[in-house]
Amino acid sequence: MKTAVSLLLVALVSLSLSFCQAAKPAGKAEAKAPQQAGNQPEKAQEQAAVPPFANDDIPVIDSHLHPISEIEQMPEFLKGMQDTRIKAVNLVCIPGREKGTLLNLVALCCKAELPKRAYVFGGLLYDVPGGSAEEMDPAFQARQLWEAGCDGIKMIETKPTSWKRMKHRVDSEFYEKYFQFLEEKQMPLVWHVADPWTYWQNPPPAYVKTGYGSGDFPPADQIYGEVDHVMTRHPRLKVIFAHMYNMCFDIDRFTRFMERWPNVNVDLAPGSTQYVDMSKNPRAWREFFIRFQDRICFGTDNGPVTDPDVKEFRIQRRFLNTNDEFTGMRSDQVFRGLGLARPVLEKIYQKNFERIAGATPRPINAAGVKRLSEQMRKYVEASTARAELEAQLKKIDAILIH
Ligand SMILES: [Zn+2]
Repeated sequence: MKTAVSLLLVALVSLSLSFCQAAKPAGKAEAKAPQQAGNQPEKAQEQAAVPPFANDDIPVIDSHLHPISEIEQMPEFLKGMQDTRIKAVNLVCIPGREKGTLLNLVALCCKAELPKRAYVFGGLLYDVPGGSAEEMDPAFQARQLWEAGCDGIKMIETKPTSWKRMKHRVDSEFYEKYFQFLEEKQMPLVWHVADPWTYWQNPPPAYVKTGYGSGDFPPADQIYGEVDHVMTRHPRLKVIFAHMYNMCFDIDRFTRFMERWPNVNVDLAPGSTQYVDMSKNPRAWREFFIRFQDRICFGTDNGPVTDPDVKEFRIQRRFLNTNDEFTGMRSDQVFRGLGLARPVLEKIYQKNFERIAGATPRPINAAGVKRLSEQMRKYVEASTARAELEAQLKKIDAILIH
């Protein structure tokens, strides 16, 4: 059983190292620290620290939620979704090797269970055993995901830790047809670029050994430059840059970026610093939010279960909804809220994402999902974990293919 101390530790770690920010291989199936510990008295104690606040009744679309990694976790996912304050979720997939190969299909199973409430942004596979060059082509994969009924794509290739492992840069020929396809279909993209600037200058503990400033990683500006090349070639890309484009350290630069690319959107999935950075100048950020109120989407970076009562979730909402000054998980984290008006909040919590990804999730396409499953079967058969993956795929097929 968890002690109060360990629960606090879990909360601390989970706030400071949220999903896409943590120093771990993007390809691995990820599991976030269990926020829903199932220990009600301790949970109630945690919640007591966040008082009720205005406009907390607005239902939310979580545009950045990581899906369950195994089909066995489905009951846990569905239980979290019983909360009616969660209008819908967008399951952003970071597939990888072994079990991670099946992640897009697992997320589509969640959509099959909740067709009106689960969007799926699939992710690309790289160098999977059994995959030909044609099958590893990003454009081929994007089409396959689109035809299966995915709503968009999630990219983490330009997070520095991922960037280092990639053979091809995003502005290279390798991705050209892929971005063309996304632009043509207006298939939206949730895209993680760079990381909080502190990771280069004053890295958090998980990054100390590999510190971005060590010379092993590209400067943030190099990565931002590659993304600029893509945007220049594909200005109609329907993109949501995750974590406020990791640019909350410089509001003027961020504003210029938003002005330059009027199609660009951003999400509010917390990194380790964005909310603290914004709290340093809430008046200026309030103006930013009002000015770009049509282009900001709420997201939590939680996974795999959503819960509007977890403290992080409530900190994010209190920050947006109120003018309160309050401390976060650590005493040195002071948040100063933006106190946004209800019509602005409704856009951020729901309407913007619905405009970008559709008022309801795309339906699963039976033929397309069958092709995707057959594709994955080929990789499963070439995998060293074949028996385990075949068992997973059998359960997946039972849900997706009738
Ligand atoms: Zn994430």
